[in-house]
Amino acid sequence: MDHIKHLKCVICGKEYQPDEVDYICPDHGAEGILDVVYDYEFIAQTFTRDKLAANPDPTIWRYKPLLPVEPDSPVPPLSVGGTPLYDAPRLAEELGLKHVWVKDDGREPTASFKDRASAIAVVKAHEKGAEIITTASTGNAAAALSGLCASVNQPNVIFVPKSAPQAKIAQLLTFGSMVMLVDGTYDDAFELCLEVADAYGWYNRNTAYNPYMSEGKKTVSFEICEQLHWQAPDVIFVSVGDGCIIGGVHKGLKDLLALGWIDHMPRIIGVQAEGSAYLAEAWEKGEDVLSKPPIQAHTVADSISAGLPRDRIKAMAAVTETNGAYITVSDDEILAAIVAQARGSGVFGEPAGATAYAGLVKAVEKGLVSPDDRIVVINTGNGLKDVASAMKAVEAAGTKPYFVEPTLADVKRALGD
Ligand SMILES: *Cc1c(COP(=O)(O)O)cnc(C)c1O
Ligand SMILES: [Zn+2]
Repeated sequence: MDHIKHLKCVICGKEYQPDEVDYICPDHGAEGILDVVYDYEFIAQTFTRDKLAANPDPTIWRYKPLLPVEPDSPVPPLSVGGTPLYDAPRLAEELGLKHVWVKDDGREPTASFKDRASAIAVVKAHEKGAEIITTASTGNAAAALSGLCASVNQPNVIFVPKSAPQAKIAQLLTFGSMVMLVDGTYDDAFELCLEVADAYGWYNRNTAYNPYMSEGKKTVSFEICEQLHWQAPDVIFVSVGDGCIIGGVHKGLKDLLALGWIDHMPRIIGVQAEGSAYLAEAWEKGEDVLSKPPIQAHTVADSISAGLPRDRIKAMAAVTETNGAYITVSDDEILAAIVAQARGSGVFGEPAGATAYAGLVKAVEKGLVSPDDRIVVINTGNGLKDVASAMKAVEAAGTKPYFVEPTLADVKRALGD
């Protein structure tokens, strides 16, 4: 891969060639996550914004020269990326802001942001000739890998906590994955998956272990900036569990700055659930995320329930290096945000999806954004992923259906007519 200089350990800075190591820095174990360092001069020789504008492919593969795959590697047929960026003037007005956009990644093929990463995993596994791909997941990364694998007939084994929402488990079983429902937390499933992958030599897609996952996730920043005609937003809100998405958002923006395609780095605001606030806590107290012990995570937003965020080093850098912030929101605020975002923009998020919007509401209260800021909120997952939580959200909002007999008279009664 001529466009990649090396992989660099986020702890010790040691550099490796892509064919030297598969996942992590051998000196630092699971914490030694590698960052892919590109040769931007080389890339810029053939890849330009004009060239991009002329490319009708709306998927993440339009950015292939900035992705860690061989130029001629076949890509899976599912349409990943190219999700809409909706102008949301009513949400903006409610919050006293001028510009708010919602990036709707609930529109990905398996209905979450995770498709961006799993698409890369499938290509990398193919490049390596891997027979089986595996991952642990709170649910969405699993569904994404499962769907992407189904699209290319790639066998895979998935580890999810048995408490994962039904819809996500249904996706896995429908796509034909071998599903291990782990009697434990996501953190338990993660450790187990690493152990099994190692024992069997399976290709490992695990978040923040496989260095290429944040590279897939960074495509959201490419899209946001391209959709805003390369006028980068001022602030981006993103929900945070393991921290791989926020790290990817940051990486994409760094790529664009390095190429000179945008002229400033947006502030990145990470939003965590109060019950799963490892990074927010570390950021507030200035704690070292390498020595901070895991917490007990518990939140309605299952996709961001992570006791030990696996990508915590990149996740912390995304905020500190962009003058951003970490904020927390309660489960009640998350449920309220599901309803507010849906009614104010038409975008139906799962709890972790609407968490970014809950964070924006909180940031306005705290004066963390100014009225003129151009703000993007990323909805990372579709509301249909977790209908039980949506029902809780509408109940809390006091919204009830009317039960009627199949007669005009009874509808009149319901209408109070
Ligand atoms: C995975 C996920 C997140 C958080 O991403 P991390 O990389 O774990 O921080 C947020 N929202 C949804 C819907 C997700 O599936
Ligand atoms: Zn290292």
